Amino acid sequence: MAKREKEKKSEANELKEKLFMKRKNTGLEMTESETAKADKFCEGYKSFLDTGKTEREACAEAVRLAEKAGFVPFDKTASYKAGDKVYVCNRGKAIILAVIGKEPAADGVRLAAAHIDSPRLDLKQNPLYENEGLAFFKTHYYGGIKKYQWPVIPLALHGVIYKADGERVDVKIGEDAEDPVFVITDILPHLADEQYKRPAPKLIQGEELNILIGSRPFRDDNASEAVKLNIMCILNEKYGITESDFISAELECVPAYKAKDVGFDRSMVGAYGQDDRVCAYTALSAILGIKGAPDRTAVTVLTDKEEIGSEGCTGLCSAYLKYFIYDLGECFGVNGRDVLSRSKCLSADVNAGYDPTFSEPFEKLNASYCGRGVVLTKYTGARGKSGTNDASAEYVSEVRRVFDAAGVIWQTGELGKVDHGGGGTVAMYIANLDVDTVDLGVPVLSMHAPFELTAKNDIYMAYKAFKAFFKG
Ligand code: MN
Ligand code: MN
Repeated sequence: MAKREKEKKSEANELKEKLFMKRKNTGLEMTESETAKADKFCEGYKSFLDTGKTEREACAEAVRLAEKAGFVPFDKTASYKAGDKVYVCNRGKAIILAVIGKEPAADGVRLAAAHIDSPRLDLKQNPLYENEGLAFFKTHYYGGIKKYQWPVIPLALHGVIYKADGERVDVKIGEDAEDPVFVITDILPHLADEQYKRPAPKLIQGEELNILIGSRPFRDDNASEAVKLNIMCILNEKYGITESDFISAELECVPAYKAKDVGFDRSMVGAYGQDDRVCAYTALSAILGIKGAPDRTAVTVLTDKEEIGSEGCTGLCSAYLKYFIYDLGECFGVNGRDVLSRSKCLSADVNAGYDPTFSEPFEKLNASYCGRGVVLTKYTGARGKSGTNDASAEYVSEVRRVFDAAGVIWQTGELGKVDHGGGGTVAMYIANLDVDTVDLGVPVLSMHAPFELTAKNDIYMAYKAFKAFFKG
């Protein structure tokens, strides 16, 4: 009796082995040497995060790395051969990089698309004011933030100011050890009775995200707004600007701290702006590392404006990517639309990692998990897949085979339970160009918070996935 039961069990186990999906657990699947490679890879990733905290800075860093790797500005009148490396910078806020393939253009391109803008606080066009001896900047937040997460953390100011005569001034203050930082205040708990009655989305309201920038008055007995005047004097001395120059400025407030390892085991990266610079860096590294000529032309686009809907000339609703593909096609005497129709895309964006502390909005069977590999997301959207690209089974099958052949550790993941919110990526805008597209990215904890978390193993697997995609 005992023996028969044992036999039965082993038959069941055999069938399970054959028929059930194997759940990934990279803690066991990643080899020691690959874990070491992941750790090393993430050192470069952390410095990329620290260097590029805004879309402009990330774009400039991508240009620098591209030129170092032998990429040159694309010239649509030039003729290109397999292995040539080109890039196009769109207004300093987005970049397209390409390595010409052996089957140039006619056979379509392999496209990886990530975004380099992140949620933040932008200064208003008339930001500076004084109230009861304190000087502040008014802000208008950019992207989806939980507003209560942004007070009482050190903030840095990054961006550009164009003066009345058109001269450009670059601003980056709060990052060096000797720099001052800025901060949004919050009310002390002793006096928070009324604040506590507010619903969570209004705990801190948009017009309360005022950044404290000074408290010392200009030394003159009769001046009103003496603190504001003192700040303007400092700004004029440092940058040569007057108050009206804020009108033609883009100044972005971001957390002032640097990327750090997280955990006793240093298995995670904690930093601001990992959505979506984690995919930007991995997709960028994959294209920069291409040796010789790939079969098909490889393209990485790092875009702007995703967090506010991809509108505007530097976002992927604009025609800049399409124009590049058309120009590239023309270099080889191929119609742009034919190149697009034969192209394939990985829309590279993060997904929500399952959070055991806040498990309620996740559906465990279809959630993605930190540390279990890069996540392939067939569709995003909300309320019955509204506002999404839903990748075809054919294309998912193709991508899946490429990853498996290359030893990529990957998982599938949907963004939360049905009807519990939702979100979108650039996938649908690229798919709208008649390009087969699927979402791929890294699971993130505390997404859109000023300090987001990712697992190093997943970051490395994203890099491996893009490498395999460009080859496959
Ligand atoms: Mn994103
Ligand atoms: Mn986002």
